[in-house]
Amino acid sequence: MRELSAAPYFTLNPFLELFRTGVPILMYHKIGPRPPGVRLKGLYLSVANFVRQLGEFQVAGFASCTLAEACAGGSGGPRVALTFDDGFCNVLENALEPLAQHRLRAIQFLVPDAIGKLNEWDLRDGEVPERLMDASQIRLWLQAGHAIGSHSLTHARLTRLSVRDAREEIFASKKTLEDTFAVPVDHFCYPYGDWNPAVRDLVMEAGYRTACTTAFGINTPATPPLALRRLTVRHPTRSLRSLKAKLLGPD
Ligand SMILES: [Zn+2]
Repeated sequence: MRELSAAPYFTLNPFLELFRTGVPILMYHKIGPRPPGVRLKGLYLSVANFVRQLGEFQVAGFASCTLAEACAGGSGGPRVALTFDDGFCNVLENALEPLAQHRLRAIQFLVPDAIGKLNEWDLRDGEVPERLMDASQIRLWLQAGHAIGSHSLTHARLTRLSVRDAREEIFASKKTLEDTFAVPVDHFCYPYGDWNPAVRDLVMEAGYRTACTTAFGINTPATPPLALRRLTVRHPTRSLRSLKAKLLGPD
């Protein structure tokens, strides 16, 4: 399983009431056309659907906020935090302009050992390869006013590692990103949403201010900053299809 949750986000209206109770953090992965053979089809969002989602936020008066602001509960009108996991090139290529047009800012969680490479961790699960941003592309992302965070050194399942290895994933990813890009890296994202109190304590010790999980929900000042909740953005086709398959059985 990758970063999935039970109640995917696709359009604003069904979520408006929930979003009045705190700050939503949306979890995106890939923006753009889906190559043939993709296993998790719902994690690709077309540019048209992405633009439509941003437009809905604009019409409803939402502004984007940082993860630190999301922890504080937001202020001065409705807020949403936009997060992209893994650092895919297709986000830079396809999301940068729509984000600028809608005056929204976002954060990409990067995997330092895979910068400029492929999503090796997905390939092991049989997923199709996608390019990850290289250092110059990450600089373009930063220059556009967006943020970066750490997604561990190698996209590891942190709870399965020794404390020593988990520490390396959490600490060295922060240092590598800060040294390479000369920006503070205050935000962490648990790969696969896989964390436990020991992992969280390492994240705290490393000096991160927030950490994103894949647990569904909204964030208020009562939400632990190192266990922020998110909503997976998914194209609904796959979930509807799998629901149908569950109800009807295999074809
Ligand atoms: Zn990831």
